[in-house]
Amino acid sequence: MASLSLKNICKVYPNGFEAVKDFSLEVEDKEFIIFVGPSGCGKSTTLRMIAGLEEISSGELYIDGKLVNDVEPKDRDIAMVFQNYALYPHMTVFDNMAFGLKLRKVPKDEIKRKVEEAAKILDLEKLLDRKPKALSGGQRQRVAMGRAIVRNPKVFLMDEPLSNLDAKLRVQMRSEISALHHRLGATIIYVTHDQTEAMTLGTRIVVLKDGVIMQVDSPQKLYNEPDNLFVAGFIGSPQMNFVDAKCNIEGEKVSLTFDNTTVVLPPAKAKKLIEGNYNGKTVVMGVRPEDIDDSQITIETFKDSIIETDVTGYELLGSEVLLYFEAAGVQMTAKVDSRTPARLGDHIKLAIDPEKVHVFDKETELTIT
Ligand code: ATP
Repeated sequence: MASLSLKNICKVYPNGFEAVKDFSLEVEDKEFIIFVGPSGCGKSTTLRMIAGLEEISSGELYIDGKLVNDVEPKDRDIAMVFQNYALYPHMTVFDNMAFGLKLRKVPKDEIKRKVEEAAKILDLEKLLDRKPKALSGGQRQRVAMGRAIVRNPKVFLMDEPLSNLDAKLRVQMRSEISALHHRLGATIIYVTHDQTEAMTLGTRIVVLKDGVIMQVDSPQKLYNEPDNLFVAGFIGSPQMNFVDAKCNIEGEKVSLTFDNTTVVLPPAKAKKLIEGNYNGKTVVMGVRPEDIDDSQITIETFKDSIIETDVTGYELLGSEVLLYFEAAGVQMTAKVDSRTPARLGDHIKLAIDPEKVHVFDKETELTIT
C-alpha cells in the first residue's frame, strides 16, 4: 500500500547536464504508472531517483507522506526490477529469491514460506533448484520479479524489464505482469520506450521529452486527446500523419486546406479555431492512419475531405493494409481493410474523417482541438 508524491524534482548530473526538469507527479496507491519517451528523455534517471540510487538535485520525494530524499535505498521499502535481471549466476533460483531476505536477517522458515509463495504466483515452483543459466529468458525475468515480490515492498520499480526478451515472450510476460499487478494490488512504476507496453499495462502514462513531462493521462486519453504535437506523434503506431494546412473561416464554417484537399471541421472543432482567430493562418493538421479510409462508403460519407493520390507503398499486416502516399509534400500512411483493391502505383481516393482530425498551433505545437 503506497502513494508517491514527486514535487518539482530536478536532476542535474555533475557535468552540468539537466536530465530531469521540474518533475511533479502524484501516484496513488495501486496505480500502474508508465514512464515513456524517446531514448535519453530521463525515464531511468527519474526511476533511479525514486529508488534512491541517484541523488535528487532539487525537489521533494514523498512515499506515503514521508519525505524520503535522504533515506537510504534499502530503507525506502521499494523493490526494483532491471532489464538485465541482475541474478547471481552461482545461486539457485531459491537462493536468488531469498538473498535480500537473508541480508535482512529474516528467519529461515519465513524466508522459505515467502519464496514458495512467490514461486507459486510466478509458476516457478518446479525450478527452485536450478541455476539461472538453466532457465529461459522469461523464466529468469520471473525470478527477478520473484526477488522483488518476496520483499513485499510498498512500490515496485521496473526499468524496461522485458526489453531483453523476444517478441513472443514479451507479449506473454506483459500479460503476466498485468495479472501480477492485480493480484498483488501493488503500486508499480514502469519504464519503457515500447508504446504498446505502455498502452496495455498502464493505468496512467507519463510521456517525457528532454526531461520534461509532456502529458500525464490514461492510455485512452493520450491517444484520443493528446495535449501537443509531440504526444500525438509519440502515441500510436503507425504514427499520426501531420500536414501543414491553411485555415479558412467563413462565418461558422471552418475548413482546412492542403493541396487540393479541403477538410470541413465539425462545429465543436470549428469553434476552437474561430475562438483562436486562426483565419488565414497555417496550422498543423493531424490524422491517424486508421482515420483515413479508401472504402467506397467512407468516400461517399466524407465526400468533402478527399485526398487523391498515388500509392507509393503497400504493406500487408494481416487483417489490415498500410497504404503509403504523399500529400502536400509529406509522406503519409492510411491503415485500411486488407480487402482493398489498391496496390502499389495505383491512383486512389482516400477520405479523412473530419471528426477525427486533430489541429495544432504551428508555433507552440499545442493542441487547438
Ligand atoms: P533510455 O530509454 O535510452 O534508457 P532514458 O530516458 O532512461 O533513456 P536516462 O538514462 O534517464 O534516459 O538519461 C537521461 C539523460 O541524462 C541522457 O541524455 C543521458 O545521456 C544523461 N545522463 C545519464 N546519466 C548521466 C551521467 N551520469 N552524467 C551525465 N549525464 C547523464
